Amino acid sequence: MASRANHRVWLGCALVCAAALLCSDATAVGAAEGQSSNPIAASNFPIASDARLAGDAKQTRFVLDLDKTIQFRAFALADPYRVVVDISQVSFQLAAGTGTAGRGLIKAFRYGLVMPGGSRIVFDLTGPARIANSYVLDAANGQPPRLVLELEQVDRTTFVQSLAAEGRPELRPAIADAKDTAAAAEAAARPATPASADLRPVVVIDPGHGGIDNGTQSSGESEKNLVLGFALALRDRIEKKGKYRVAMTRTDDTFIPLADRVRIARNQSAALFVSIHADALPRNEGDAQGATIYTLSDRASDTEAERLAEAENKADAIGGVNLTEEPTEVADILIDLAQRETRTFSNRFARLLMGEMKKSTVRMYKHPLKSAGFKVLKAPDVPSVLIELGYVSNKGDLEHLVSENWRSRTVGSMAQAIDAFFAKRLATAGPAN
Ligand SMILES: [Zn+2]
Repeated sequence: MASRANHRVWLGCALVCAAALLCSDATAVGAAEGQSSNPIAASNFPIASDARLAGDAKQTRFVLDLDKTIQFRAFALADPYRVVVDISQVSFQLAAGTGTAGRGLIKAFRYGLVMPGGSRIVFDLTGPARIANSYVLDAANGQPPRLVLELEQVDRTTFVQSLAAEGRPELRPAIADAKDTAAAAEAAARPATPASADLRPVVVIDPGHGGIDNGTQSSGESEKNLVLGFALALRDRIEKKGKYRVAMTRTDDTFIPLADRVRIARNQSAALFVSIHADALPRNEGDAQGATIYTLSDRASDTEAERLAEAENKADAIGGVNLTEEPTEVADILIDLAQRETRTFSNRFARLLMGEMKKSTVRMYKHPLKSAGFKVLKAPDVPSVLIELGYVSNKGDLEHLVSENWRSRTVGSMAQAIDAFFAKRLATAGPAN
């Protein structure tokens, strides 16, 4: 509980005043990664000040300038071709746009926190490549300490063989502080209070993305931060009523694989799972606005829903998760008869939510109820919805998304819908149940 209180405090700090981080704990520094242009914010961590690419489509080199040497582990992943470099937590102070343009074998790369204590760099490759060399250099000849990665083009067969030789990389970064890793894993698996002592229904709130995965971005706002702020406000509102127990898939700026989000819902025996996101349209695809509520189906209700599910399902590839090792229970759960009841409840909640949001004059998308194959909704026994709060690419929606007033109204309508959902559910179940 103490740590939750801490989280709440530091989230406020991170949003309002980066300078306040000086008096906060180490985790808080990670949350402010996006604003780490303030050099004092991350003084405890090694600083990465520049990153550059050299070479061609046969051999490509990546160099990261640091202010002290670090430990690292590099490995390749297939389908899509990626190289992942796990390092201890680093404060990235790189120029805006670093990594968006590639060179040679590297299509693009991104970097960020994957968990407290652990950062990661993920390279998207143009084709199969081998890590020919990787090392950290001490400062020498006026040059700062550097992390160097050298890639070499290979054919697919050689690539696959080199993966087998490397062994199977862990989903979790290997370099992070072992104590932090164990604590985080334990915290995610453990109910907030022992289940036997607390029989209230469990609502799991899932702020999308996090850490290295920013989600959609527009006008300097990241989806991962917007939805975290919203989810924490929703948690506080629901907890205040005292009728439900709330579990969060993340309470800070950490990357959580999609399968883990589903696992948290199932481990907590959740009665409702609500995933919070914000959408964006590519610039050449016009404008769209308003909130949309999604449920799970094997076939997308339209091409827009299909595009969105595809984009949201990419979170694992972005975060450097080994997709070829996804547990099959999450990778291809069939929408079968056993899930019919779950689907009915999901749809019921989606309709209640739409009604409440319309009532509190939250702007809705022109067709606000949709369905598609979102991986994060694939908990077969947990009624689940995914809500896109609006379009960060739309000026009006973005104004709402960052407005305290809008957030408070929308959180209120969600809390109402949750109440209505459980009231009806308990009535349907009857006293004998
Ligand atoms: Zn999203």
